[in-house]
Amino acid sequence: MNTKLQSQDWHAESVEKTFTLLETSKNGIENEEVENRLKIYGQNQLPEPKTHSPFIRFLYQFHNVLIYVLMAAGLVTALLGHWVDASVIVGVVFINAAIGFIQEGKAEDALKAIQQMLSANAMVMREGKQISIKAELLVPGDIVFLQSGDKVPADLRLFQVKGLQVQEAALTGESIAVEKIVDSVSEQSVIGDRRCIAYSSTLVTHGQGRGVVVKTGADTEIGRISTLVSEVKSLETPLIAQMTQFGRWLTLAIVIIAIITFIIGFFIQDYVLDEMFLAAVSLAVAAIPEGLPAIMTITLAIGVQRMAKRNAIIRKLPAVETLGAVSVICSDKTGTLTRNEMTVRTIATTNNLFDLSGTGYNPHGKISMLGKDMDLEERPLLHELSRAAMLCNDSSLEQKEDEWFVHGDPMEGALLVAGFKAGLDIDTEVKKYPRTDLIPFESEHRFMATLHHSHTGEAFVFIKGAPEQILEMCSLQRSLDGDVSLEEAYWLQRIEELGSQGQRVLAMAMKPVKYEKMELTFSDVESDLIMLGMYGMIDPPREEAVEAVQVCKKAGIRVKMITGDHAATALAISRQLKLINTEDVLTGEDIAKMNEEELKLRVKDVDVYARVNPEHKLLLVRLLQEHGLIVAMTGDGVNDAPALKRADVGTAMGYNGTEAAKEAAEMVLTDDNFSSIIHAVEEGRTVYDNLKKAILFILPTNGGQALIILAAIMFGFHELPLTPVQILWVNMVTAITLALSLAFEPSEKNIMNREPRKVHEALLTPYLVWRVAFVSTILMAGTFSLFLWEMGEGASIEHARTVSVNTLLMFEVFYLFNARYITSSVLNWSGFTSNPYALLSIAILIVFQLAFTYLPVMQSLFGTTAINLSMWLTIIIVSSSVLFLVEFEKYIVRKLYYK
Ligand code: ATP
Repeated sequence: MNTKLQSQDWHAESVEKTFTLLETSKNGIENEEVENRLKIYGQNQLPEPKTHSPFIRFLYQFHNVLIYVLMAAGLVTALLGHWVDASVIVGVVFINAAIGFIQEGKAEDALKAIQQMLSANAMVMREGKQISIKAELLVPGDIVFLQSGDKVPADLRLFQVKGLQVQEAALTGESIAVEKIVDSVSEQSVIGDRRCIAYSSTLVTHGQGRGVVVKTGADTEIGRISTLVSEVKSLETPLIAQMTQFGRWLTLAIVIIAIITFIIGFFIQDYVLDEMFLAAVSLAVAAIPEGLPAIMTITLAIGVQRMAKRNAIIRKLPAVETLGAVSVICSDKTGTLTRNEMTVRTIATTNNLFDLSGTGYNPHGKISMLGKDMDLEERPLLHELSRAAMLCNDSSLEQKEDEWFVHGDPMEGALLVAGFKAGLDIDTEVKKYPRTDLIPFESEHRFMATLHHSHTGEAFVFIKGAPEQILEMCSLQRSLDGDVSLEEAYWLQRIEELGSQGQRVLAMAMKPVKYEKMELTFSDVESDLIMLGMYGMIDPPREEAVEAVQVCKKAGIRVKMITGDHAATALAISRQLKLINTEDVLTGEDIAKMNEEELKLRVKDVDVYARVNPEHKLLLVRLLQEHGLIVAMTGDGVNDAPALKRADVGTAMGYNGTEAAKEAAEMVLTDDNFSSIIHAVEEGRTVYDNLKKAILFILPTNGGQALIILAAIMFGFHELPLTPVQILWVNMVTAITLALSLAFEPSEKNIMNREPRKVHEALLTPYLVWRVAFVSTILMAGTFSLFLWEMGEGASIEHARTVSVNTLLMFEVFYLFNARYITSSVLNWSGFTSNPYALLSIAILIVFQLAFTYLPVMQSLFGTTAINLSMWLTIIIVSSSVLFLVEFEKYIVRKLYYK
């Protein structure tokens, strides 16, 4: 094949010519040729968006108010002739930037790796077999199947379409879907008019189609136009933005306080200029929480990673925070709350009710009637019904060793299995009655129809779908005495009966048509159908889902089931799941009859919604939100996209969901399992807790230091307990050790026994502010007292400062344990040991401190000096006080507020 083909105007070529040029056919290409073409054209991947170079990203680290303050301080310090101090300030600024650069890079890489887990699959025909492959492995000449909800995986020249509509906003910005055709268009036509091409990255909103891949990867239209420097996904979320903003104001306030202190000290306390300048710089450096934004970002990134490990992939970062506040989860039933492993248990025909035995998709099993085996040969109605169900079907069964698997819709797979049990052979039936056309299943019309022509001059339409729907379209029913008028009451009773046992009911009908009929339209199936029978299938709830519903009850989260299935089935399943309200159900029809006010009054209380349309989902989300609830909503179909977008946490199914739903969602579940949502909520709550803990830990460090400097100035000390470089040291080592370990803090035990957090609650609650002030004061009092004591004993200023720094850091070591639980007690085994990162970070910190205290080079850089063992003991005794004082405070708070 020749590579020049990549510049071909495929929209102007006929289908035949396209096949010839690409040396392919409707059966696809050979696997060997695929390998060849992969070598020539490369993988079907869009070029990586270019991000800023590492150097530029490193420079960005300096773009921050604190760094400016520090740089200015360094410069003035140098001008004043304090060379060592000035160079340490500059050194620390660089080290800080390097740490930020590495940490941010890691967080970004982690998030990128998670995004890549979402790569799409494509259904292709190769060597005459229909298989699903990773979209990256497509090559020109591949035959691709499209259906509603798919994201087009490469540029395709379409050769078969059935109501195919594609939304090309990704390419043209136009959000109205375009109806696709197979005829070529003029060479000059613009992209939006090239209706015989389906472009990569656009979304199929309706219908089905087949096309041959003409361009892949960077050669596709989207690959060509996508601007190479695409926007870099920001790591910022509303909370981080809120904290960054808070940080800016705080910095400003601190700089102002530092200036005022400078003025007071210089004019009132008679400090000399450079002494006072250093004091003011110390104050600013001490008080600004420069490490906080980085720790918050890392906490979020770790949360996202943990969620991914538990099968929830976050597509939009703010969802991590919202998840912790979720108060209602609206979930689909089939496949999410249930296993989506269908087994036909009952078959109803006009005259009889049959029971089926056997489990799963193993096609060996018996059909019996009233508990007795029977001769299938004598059951013409069952035979005909089974044939219709096998032909109006797109699935296939496969045996791998002892296990049987379905390719395609599990419900259709179950029908095949039932067909085998009834003694039919699919290959024979398909050969006898080849399919000529179809109306694909869409959840709006809830049925699927196929047109078949036999070789003996007959033509039929077979229809399967939701039973009420099919009943409306029927006027006759097939009986042992031929076709007789439809007995609606009989069928309605079957539906109720099977549904109330939790069985999913599906009806099958047929209609003979003229042999000349080659195309199937809606008008062909609207009326005069002949009812053949109904199937009752079981699809048991997932055990994990039953447990997860219980967890939700304790966690103050209401679970609502919103399903396309029948009301009786939905209610029966809701009882098995033990939802809160299993008495009431609202159907799509009920919802359509109510006005918004009426519905709003009921949405909080009703937990089961059946036969709903996607637009009802949107309405339900909106009304729940109007009650102030934070709604997570699951969805899989293309029509679910608006509801997913509207929900606070739109959740798409990664396995059975469409690409359209995934694009609209905040979160994708790789295992389609309801319990994964609950795990994500738990992780979301943990992230929020950990953000609070990071704040609770970092701010008192700054507060304590600032108070120490302020106190020293107020007392008129000419030599401060901490120098600016020592403060920088303290901030730096805590940021990379103790504070960082809090980002790895595991979930607290009672995390799912609390009510969801109020969404408008500020991160910095009054209680947290109090705690920050309380701890800052303890840190200040202890450190300052030891400093005073040392000075009083006649120690050198270096010695007294070394004691201050070590006291401050030991305070933080003890306080780290307090900060692990916000209000629970840590005075127990797990309080000290359940976060190994905390212990490791303490060990590292101690090594740092020993170096800081005893290494000669550190002594000359930071103005420290060796201290003896009894001094260390004093430091430890004094600093451990914070542990007990804060635990005592928590105890009082627990007594007062959490009785
Ligand atoms: P949920 O919304 O909980 O996933 P669901 O799978 O029943 O439930 P839909 O996919 O919207 O929701 O299906 C609605 C109804 O359409 C089903 O209850 C069934 O009666 C019918 N149906 C589903 N799939 C098919 C199909 N492939 N062919 C014909 N009818 C179908």
